Amino acid sequence: MAASAGPEIERLIGLLAKLPGLGPRSARRAALALLKRREQLLNPLADALAEASQRVKTCQVCGSLDTQDPCAICADAQRDASLICVVEEVGALWAMERASAFRGRYHVLGGLLSALDGVGPEALRVGPLVSRAADEGVREVILALPATVDGQTTAHYLADRLEGARRLGDHAGPRRPRGRRTRLARRRHHRPGHAGAAACLIGRSGRDSAKALKNAA
Ligand SMILES: [Zn+2]
Repeated sequence: MAASAGPEIERLIGLLAKLPGLGPRSARRAALALLKRREQLLNPLADALAEASQRVKTCQVCGSLDTQDPCAICADAQRDASLICVVEEVGALWAMERASAFRGRYHVLGGLLSALDGVGPEALRVGPLVSRAADEGVREVILALPATVDGQTTAHYLADRLEGARRLGDHAGPRRPRGRRTRLARRRHHRPGHAGAAACLIGRSGRDSAKALKNAA
């Protein structure tokens, strides 16, 4: 791209163009809108960005974003700590919170397994999920992942891991509560901001759900 607006403005445009949904042309429009409305838009945005950069952190428990760690949801004693809803990204958590559909706690995976993109379990927050699920207070893990190939692959993998960890725990001693379930919640549409994550529940245990998913495929 030939620089035509000076290096500072081109840098701004280049950074804006990296945002999801903004290509070079819309980034140019956005930069122009910001520069034309310095007091109302550019300066408040710069302040908000600086504040977010300084104060927002990743919750060490669930992987969500908040200004406090543990985040407000993990720290909220009113929420049901026996339910963990596994979501792909923070955006899915926000969508569920907007819908006020869930009163348990979350676990943000940070992506999906993908053979195509070379994303393995070690790149996701799988280990922390298995550790959390092993807590005796956890009754149910709900896998609210998108109904895409990667979403289903990830759900199968997690159901197996959680089931395997549960069986190990059963052999290890009496500390682990029996009867804990893993549910798969299929999202019909994989749309950011879509709040239907927990709308369609299939199967009662991870194994049944995996079978049901296979049959549905
Ligand atoms: Zn949290």
